[in-house]
Amino acid sequence: MLDSNISTLLRSIPAMDDLLNTPWAARFSDSLGREHVKEIITEALDDIRSEIRTGIQIKAPLNELAVIRAKNLLGKRTSSTLKPVINATGVVVHTNLGRAPLADEALRAVHDISGAYSTLEYSPEKGGRGGRNDHVEWSICRMTGAEAALVVNNNAAAVLLALSAIAAGREVIVSCGELVEIGDSFRIPEILSFSGAKMTAVGCTNSTRISDYSNAITENTAVLLKVHPSNYRIEGFVKSTPREELAALASSRNLVFMEDLGSGLLCPLGVPFANREHSVRDCLEAGSGIVTFSGDKLLGGPQLGVIAGSKNLIDKMKRHQLLRALRVDKMTLAAFEATLRIYLCGRPGEIPVIRMIEIDKSDLLKKARALCRILKDTATNSGINDFTISVVETDDAVGGGAYPTDILPGFGVEISPVSGGEPRPRGSAAGSAESLAAGLRTARIPVIPGIRDGSVILHVRTLLTGDEKLIAASFADAIGKDD
Ligand SMILES: *Cc1c(COP(=O)(O)O)cnc(C)c1O
Repeated sequence: MLDSNISTLLRSIPAMDDLLNTPWAARFSDSLGREHVKEIITEALDDIRSEIRTGIQIKAPLNELAVIRAKNLLGKRTSSTLKPVINATGVVVHTNLGRAPLADEALRAVHDISGAYSTLEYSPEKGGRGGRNDHVEWSICRMTGAEAALVVNNNAAAVLLALSAIAAGREVIVSCGELVEIGDSFRIPEILSFSGAKMTAVGCTNSTRISDYSNAITENTAVLLKVHPSNYRIEGFVKSTPREELAALASSRNLVFMEDLGSGLLCPLGVPFANREHSVRDCLEAGSGIVTFSGDKLLGGPQLGVIAGSKNLIDKMKRHQLLRALRVDKMTLAAFEATLRIYLCGRPGEIPVIRMIEIDKSDLLKKARALCRILKDTATNSGINDFTISVVETDDAVGGGAYPTDILPGFGVEISPVSGGEPRPRGSAAGSAESLAAGLRTARIPVIPGIRDGSVILHVRTLLTGDEKLIAASFADAIGKDD
């Protein structure tokens, strides 16, 4: 039985009709339809009811709370949840934040192609059917030295299609040290089993020799597979087999040597640790028959997966039924074609991901100083003085599984709460770095910061042009919030 206090509270929740007949609800009804508005208000009221039942303390008068909650939920349901955020984490390829921001030329191409009919699968010369893949194949081959190439929805799809086409019903040999889960639950054993191939895992977690591979080959083996371990690293005694040896073994036994590269580096990067990742071209030249990689990691393009390598194998994949389910759409192709053209023309610095990785430390310092000034002004204008705001050195990262142990030294702005300042309204962003970070993340333009030693750090490496002003507005939002 409910105690009487709870039943009293439940009874004082306003009636649906009282809310539905307010001017603000009527405004939402105009754009959303009365039935939807009713449904959303019901949801908000139900939430309050269940909070009351579970004994959560409710402070505001219930009629006011109901209006606030209903308006909030209506606002949320009528705005996009997929929206731009400012990446102030210093992680350049950040999977949760959508990986690579596209280059301007790629954006223009998406805009031009997606609002019109296009030559997606049409050849004006022939006056008939053309190939979707034809728009990018030549450029991929040119940039990587591959004989042929094919694009699909993402790299996971690339691995799946490649293995389905060349190894279904047969064995794929892979090192135990490479059976890792990558990012958002990409697991080689699962992908292998979806493809219909049978996995033979060889060697130990930290050591796999060429003899481990050769001893495991049977008449049913189709592929030797090498997988980039991405964010996973084994320290200490580690031995993996060089790709040249695997390529030689595969070729002597008439097998395919396939490599899942992950990042898809198309040109050497201007960072001190550049040589730790091999470019797609390096891998193909070292004898990989097939390589797969993502379009939106180090390559800096749209989400897709590329399969590049020898023509007879790629042709099999082009004929495979699965391709129909994994193909890319016109917006993706437009963005990718434009991104590849930037590489072809030798202007990789125009690709945001590359630019952010290669940017000079002195430029980062300048950006950090400018941001610091803007934020200090913002704090002063808001009459807030319980933060210290200063330029600091930061450890930034490439992200996306490339160079996982290498630090990109950068700069940022540190915002630290000062204890002993004026008491602030309860719930405002003051007090702790966590609450300031939460305030920034939930501002109208969300800013995703780093946190270090109890301070918020805004890394400037990953900021795009114009972000500084937007950060100032969100900072003002965050420190001004009092509910
Ligand atoms: C990132 C990655 C994948 C998954 O790529 P998606 O494009 O996210 O599907 C697969 N393999 C490796 C080695 C990776 O680094």
